[in-house]
Amino acid sequence: MSSPHSSPDMYIDTSKELHENDVFNFACTPEKSCFTHCCYDLSLILTPYDIYRLKKRMGMDSDTFLKKYTAVHVGSESGIPVVMVNIEKETYKCPFLDENKGCTVYEDRPGACRTYPLARITYKKDDMTIGDYYYIVKESDCIGHKDPKPWTVGDWINHEGLREYNHFNDFFAEVLEARKKSGIIHLHADQINDFYMACYNIDDFRRFFLEGPNLDRMMEEQAVIDKISNDDMELMQYAFNWTKRKIFGGCPSCSIAGCGK
Ligand code: SF4
Ligand code: SF4
Repeated sequence: MSSPHSSPDMYIDTSKELHENDVFNFACTPEKSCFTHCCYDLSLILTPYDIYRLKKRMGMDSDTFLKKYTAVHVGSESGIPVVMVNIEKETYKCPFLDENKGCTVYEDRPGACRTYPLARITYKKDDMTIGDYYYIVKESDCIGHKDPKPWTVGDWINHEGLREYNHFNDFFAEVLEARKKSGIIHLHADQINDFYMACYNIDDFRRFFLEGPNLDRMMEEQAVIDKISNDDMELMQYAFNWTKRKIFGGCPSCSIAGCGK
């Protein structure tokens, strides 16, 4: 599920699943008295694709971006590292918010910010592809919900440029699914570091995998190396698969989940 507005005042209406053609009423415009209220005092989790878009936007190496704008903690239930935006200490505002102009990274804002006032729920279908539906999310002081402007869920997804985000987030969801299947609850420190590098720090992973001494690369087909060397999104998906194999998948020689040797 994703929402930028993980605050104590957030309400998720789980009474109704919304699908592509279902309609809801909402509008967010700068004239509204609550404009930018939702960009304060929030828990904003970043996915790997969010981080990629934002670090490109800022013209930064992913390592520099992560150090400057984010903090990482290990989820108590998931056992995996989670990256969150550092909210400014004195103002409690998102660091990408300009109080007068609004979101300064609007075209590359995280998927959760795009999804609100919806929350996306994903699940595995019988054919093993990923299905989804949505719930309505309400922040207590968000008056956008009072606006009668109708949207179908599908129109909202298109309007907010969400399809691309959902597409890449679904690849990441496969990594989380692999953890669940592996039965591994707690990662050890090296595994946490590997997960963090491969899933969140794409420039470090590139250096590690494509430039460093690396047996995995030497075992890989040249066509694959060429593809991931020249296309960041291919590299990101490769890094997800590497994480699944290395941390959660075991290996042909011993089949021990999490062995990764
Ligand atoms: S309408 Fe809702 S989403 Fe838009 S600025 Fe106001 S609080 Fe934020
Ligand atoms: S990234 Fe932009 S839209 Fe999202 S919380 Fe920050 S300022 Fe608001």
